[in-house]
Amino acid sequence: MKVDILGLKIDDVTMDEAVKKVLGFTQSKKSHSIFTPNAEMAMAAVGNSDYMAVLNSADLLIPDGSGVVLGAKFLGTPLREKVAGIELVLSLLSSGRKLSVFIYGGKPGIAEKAAENINEKFPSINICGIIHGYHDASLEDSHIEIINNASPDFLFVALGFPKQEEWIHRNIDRIKHCSAIGCGGTIDYLAGVVKRTPKFMINLNLEWLDRLIRQPRRLGRMLRIPVFLFRCLKERLFKKHK
Ligand code: UDP
Repeated sequence: MKVDILGLKIDDVTMDEAVKKVLGFTQSKKSHSIFTPNAEMAMAAVGNSDYMAVLNSADLLIPDGSGVVLGAKFLGTPLREKVAGIELVLSLLSSGRKLSVFIYGGKPGIAEKAAENINEKFPSINICGIIHGYHDASLEDSHIEIINNASPDFLFVALGFPKQEEWIHRNIDRIKHCSAIGCGGTIDYLAGVVKRTPKFMINLNLEWLDRLIRQPRRLGRMLRIPVFLFRCLKERLFKKHK
């Protein structure tokens, strides 16, 4: 089932369902896209219909973040749970299945570090290729060829939003039998250069505060979160009086 949040059609899945669905994608001949919008991304989509269409084209659109879950509640159409992209990636890596992963994105050297850590912690995972995320766009065709030659089950795309979702949307039909996930900062976490938010803060829905303390340059972008929640409340009130 999908839940409509200001035009964004989020899949109302639990983490277990999302993992099953994504592992199921690997059995299919078709390529799939998986996006993980948080409230900042949702608000960016509200202000940009092209980006909204890109996000809604996903085969799986999971609610990454307490903001999206709270927004759905404010709209009167609650989601069952938050499905954080980072948790989804970790669940896939620790599924015990023999899977190959291509890492596309991150600063030069970061994907290599992430690959080393993945090899160490998840022996069933084969990292079959790496390309950093600061190349000229003119190399896109050759990158697709390299990815297809490596034939991964999963393509982790970490280019920040909206770039990573736009990249996947533009190229998914050219990538063979692969599931592409917009991963963002998950690569930095896997590389060990960014720490996870402490559990107590996650439990208190304070990941945004942790991010703000660690990366104060995000303040401008993060102001979109209260605006997003306000828009959800307004939409609910407006609907009631229609
Ligand atoms: N990144 C990249 N190329 C770019 C922009 C970003 O490879 O042109 C990488 C960046 O190094 C980081 C990841 O994308 O590893 C996520 O970036 P950011 O922290 O900005 O994430 P967001 O919150 O925007 O998804």
